[in-house]
Amino acid sequence: MSARTHILLGAPGSGKGTQAKRLVDELSLSHLSTGDILRDAVSKGTELGLRAKAIMASGKLVDDDTVNGLVFARLQDETQDVLFDGYPRTLQQAEALGNFLSSKGIGLGFVVNVDVPPEVLEARVVGRRTCSNNACGAIYHLESKPPKTEGVCDLCGSPLKHRADDTSEAFRSRMGEFNATFQPLLAFYSGGPNYRRVDGNRHPDQVFGSLVQLFREKA
Ligand code: AMP
Repeated sequence: MSARTHILLGAPGSGKGTQAKRLVDELSLSHLSTGDILRDAVSKGTELGLRAKAIMASGKLVDDDTVNGLVFARLQDETQDVLFDGYPRTLQQAEALGNFLSSKGIGLGFVVNVDVPPEVLEARVVGRRTCSNNACGAIYHLESKPPKTEGVCDLCGSPLKHRADDTSEAFRSRMGEFNATFQPLLAFYSGGPNYRRVDGNRHPDQVFGSLVQLFREKA
């Protein structure tokens, strides 16, 4: 069982997924992205995937009990410190996670809000392209981070895809969900001693630098 869990909070397009992937390598953390777990289930066509597919494509949230169950099952097997990306996303998830961690004696580390103004987010999401190989999952952007060969992942050579929920329409639905759930989540965490806000409206390398510095502080 892991010793500590850290949380990256942020809107769709805030860059938390990109940053999480770099941070886990830099700091030897285990990456726990509920979006990646769910997309994997969708691509494998499991029972969970079949249930989640339409919900995800429409930009809505998968129900709390399902997501909490996935996370708690994963945490049972973790030995490293964990970095959550995309979880918790609702107050109910945050409370359930808090109860689970206390019951297992696992500490809550940093809760970092990667803050990006709403007007920047849509262009980031609609231009995003993602490696179709789930084991790689590298993230590109048509303008700000194009792959060397169009449509092909620089890292593993797999085709890039445009996520079904990265269209303008699905983005607006995801932002609707985000706006409805984020303020209570922020209120839940922002009073805590390990809450930090990071300015996410900068070059990804600068955001990464701030995050590494922060995670190297002792919580
Ligand atoms: P993400 O990759 O984090 O943007 O997540 C993609 C989609 O997966 C979301 O729009 C939701 O449909 C679903 N999802 C991911 N994480 C959660 C969560 N913690 N709670 C509910 N749904 C989630």
